[in-house]
Amino acid sequence: MQIEFLNLGRVNAEYDSAIRESIDRVLRSGYYILGEETAAFEREFARYCGVTHCIGVANGLDALHLILRGYGIAPGDEVIVPANTFIATWLAVSLVGARIVPVEPDPSTWNIAPERIEEAITSRTRAIMPVHLYGAPADMDAILDIARRHRLRVIEDAAQAHGARYGGLRAGSLGDAAGFSFYPGKNLGALGDGGAITTNDDELAERLRKLRNYGSSIKYQHEVAGVNSRLDEMQSAVLRVKLQHLDADNARRAALAAAYREALAETPLELIRVPEQAQSVWHLFAVRTPRRDALRDYLASRGVGTQIHYPVPCHRQAAFADQAWSALPVTELLQSEILSLPMAPYLSADDVAYVAAQVKAFFA
Ligand SMILES: *Cc1c(COP(=O)(O)O)cnc(C)c1O
Repeated sequence: MQIEFLNLGRVNAEYDSAIRESIDRVLRSGYYILGEETAAFEREFARYCGVTHCIGVANGLDALHLILRGYGIAPGDEVIVPANTFIATWLAVSLVGARIVPVEPDPSTWNIAPERIEEAITSRTRAIMPVHLYGAPADMDAILDIARRHRLRVIEDAAQAHGARYGGLRAGSLGDAAGFSFYPGKNLGALGDGGAITTNDDELAERLRKLRNYGSSIKYQHEVAGVNSRLDEMQSAVLRVKLQHLDADNARRAALAAAYREALAETPLELIRVPEQAQSVWHLFAVRTPRRDALRDYLASRGVGTQIHYPVPCHRQAAFADQAWSALPVTELLQSEILSLPMAPYLSADDVAYVAAQVKAFFA
């Protein structure tokens, strides 16, 4: 048996004819940038997330970076980020010239540890950027409480958490603003790059609509030195199709995750703890073991594809070698032990049973 880590062709095959129709519609319209499809997707995604504004942008990194710019966060400011995340979270902060302040994860949820945030706050701290890692919302009650007491912005990196809930509210509506990615492998994935910002902040939304479009709201009038970062009509049309099926896809992922958790409960693998108020959308199904590399090789020999998210922590990347980072032992240990098993809406219960059986055989 052969179970790939992820096959995006199979993900999109489910919606083949609807996607083709939507692409045809855009092709014939003769309108490809900032037209009706993007406006409609922005309305639909804002409603889905339970916010008043959605601003489509070119990718998830731009979404995060433009929120920071929109709030005027700049050199001299500090932004608190999780130490264990995809590098885009950190790059968003370095793009505005602010200082990256990494905070260690909670060893049970693997998300940023709220009790370690407070000790990282200084007079220069402007924002906390929690990541809902692997689709599970961070401990937002504690994070929002700290932010309120210290008057900090909370910017969600929701790139892995389309549709996740915390206390009944959707990711993207939990802080001041949120950045989403529609990179093809995400739970809501385009056929190329795409991203969006969600917020209830009217002023921020207005600034961001200009910033993403050359600093302009009226053609050829440029009020600020903006960038070109727009979600295009083709991607918006595809995303409108897939948004209709996002809850069903996420329910499928949750069922597969429950099957994995039950089947793996008796193994020495450590599984993620999802806080009671949180509902994960299982972007990834990651497990943890000190025997990670041997398990990975064994699974490969049995036809099971796996990945490591992420093999090198941000503070160990050459890109950030010019800065002195404090010791981050929890992050480093986690990074050396994590392994992501196959997770996609098209997988069957039998696929998950096969993977779990191979894991059990490895530990037997
Ligand atoms: C994917 C991702 C991003 C960036 O998204 P892009 O669209 O690839 O720029 C940011 N943060 C996290 C946590 C991600 O997983």
